[in-house]
Amino acid sequence: MRRRKSREDRKDLFALFGNPVAQSLSPLMHHAAYGAMGLEARYEAFQAGGPEEIVRLIRERDIRGASVTIPFKTAVMPFLDEVAEDARIIGAVNTIRNRGGRLEGFNTDWLGLTRSLGEHLNVRGRRFAVIGAGGAARAAVFGIARGGGLPVVYCRNAETGRALSRDLGCLSLPLSRLQTAQAYGLINATPVGMAGGEGQSPVDPGVLRCFDWVMDMIYNPLQTRLLRDAEAAGCGVINGLSMFVHQGAEQIRIWTGIEPPVDVMALAVRAELVRRGGVPGEGETGQPEKRHGAF
Ligand code: NAP
Repeated sequence: MRRRKSREDRKDLFALFGNPVAQSLSPLMHHAAYGAMGLEARYEAFQAGGPEEIVRLIRERDIRGASVTIPFKTAVMPFLDEVAEDARIIGAVNTIRNRGGRLEGFNTDWLGLTRSLGEHLNVRGRRFAVIGAGGAARAAVFGIARGGGLPVVYCRNAETGRALSRDLGCLSLPLSRLQTAQAYGLINATPVGMAGGEGQSPVDPGVLRCFDWVMDMIYNPLQTRLLRDAEAAGCGVINGLSMFVHQGAEQIRIWTGIEPPVDVMALAVRAELVRRGGVPGEGETGQPEKRHGAF
């Protein structure tokens, strides 16, 4: 006799693939969204061994949609049936949709970034210095250029900088030249300052006065050393929470076609960061509210 499917088994399955994934806030954020949307769905994190395993598991377990994170965003691309043009130009896929076994790759990081920036400022016609030359930096460059802005990359590795310049058609310079950047905004797309390395900043505080706005893609902790230094230098600051929420919200749109509750998702992530101790208490930053991230 065939076993009847349990209620859990009948739910649509979504997943995160990366390595490591244990500390990821994606499951919590997606479950908060599904609950508020009344979706019969669950989202599981898998520590994957490689891209072949990711595509095999998606097909075997009939996973409807997957988030892909470090270190598989580029490696998974050749294993997909189709890759959207923006993801192909950026060179990274962070989202997979499974249409009856046909796997399609997307990049929602660049949209997350531009929606987050758009909550505070207008990108069009303005120069942005992007630090780093990895997948997140490439997404930032693509998003800023798509929004009519002028991205310039500052990185420590000349070879990856050259590859980024070639693929995305933007100038890349050594990180040591950052003090000569005449830019409206600065965006940190390196992991420097993340939980575990709090207290570190990719940038000397002395250069921050030149920028009106400083964004850190890091969201754990929400207030990095870079953002504290930027506030002290009088810059507007944007943390990585809103980008994270918007990239996840776009994944849900791609997978379900339904509008996700962005505010609910942001609140859930913020509450978890507070629980983990990564968020300063109200008023500790000493800056007017409007100068901070929307979430
Ligand atoms: P990645 O592909 O590993 O790239 C990291 C980049 O940072 C590389 O160019 C690396 O240079 C550079 N870097 C690392 N340590 C550095 C240091 N000490 N000084 C200068 N440059 C350094 O990582 P990624 O996927 O681009 O992610 C970068 C950051 O963005 C991570 O913190 C990630 O959590 C964050 N992120 C946030 C969101 C969000 O939604 N908020 C989304 C995506 C990513 P080398 O090549 O020389 O190592």
